[in-house]
Amino acid sequence: MSTEEILKEIAAEVSVCTKCDLCKGRTKAVPGEGNPHAQVMFIGEGPGFHEDKQGRPFVGPAGQFLEELLASINLKRADVFITNVVKCRPPGNRDPLPAEIDACNGYLDRQIAAIDPQVIVTLGRFSMAKFFGGEKISAIHGRARKIDGRICIAMYHPAAGLHQQSLKESIRSDFKKIPLVIAEAERLAAEGKMKAEPPKAKEEPPEQLALF
Ligand code: URA
Ligand code: SF4
Repeated sequence: MSTEEILKEIAAEVSVCTKCDLCKGRTKAVPGEGNPHAQVMFIGEGPGFHEDKQGRPFVGPAGQFLEELLASINLKRADVFITNVVKCRPPGNRDPLPAEIDACNGYLDRQIAAIDPQVIVTLGRFSMAKFFGGEKISAIHGRARKIDGRICIAMYHPAAGLHQQSLKESIRSDFKKIPLVIAEAERLAAEGKMKAEPPKAKEEPPEQLALF
């Protein structure tokens, strides 16, 4: 299957998914959208009011700011892929629950595998937790790390910038790093250094031990 077909298949599954209770309150599921061959993927938290109505990610006020940020580095929505850790709107925009994030994680993993972006930008705490574990966003925002053969960079959620001017400036300056991160990813890829690390050697299974 082509990447386009895989993404369509995931979107079709998401639109009728009942793997967690968020399906009960949704108007439309929001699988994500953009360039199937994007070099950069943005992962937010979950659909809000406007996204739930339209079935598209980041179309409300936070989305307007995201578009402005993209324009500041000469990118358009259609150049990148934009999605969320949960594909259905949490009621009242509450935080997604761990069980909901777990239930939805397979869709995100399949999207990442299909698009195979060189760079992943996490927007907010919930997508950051997937890649950066228990770290604090105030400590690591704007930092890029090689994770599983990609460069991941954590940023504050654009919605946070709408409420707090200082965060808005942080996001603006963190975004300016993205072109450099892309260039670094291209350089590492050209040198064959962007492959996923081999899984850590496990303890020898008993049948192997019997050989010694
Ligand atoms: N906030 C998000 O995290 N995702 C959206 O799609 C919209 C707002
Ligand atoms: Fe399914 Fe994800 Fe929607 Fe839950 S949030 S119902 S797991 S698509």
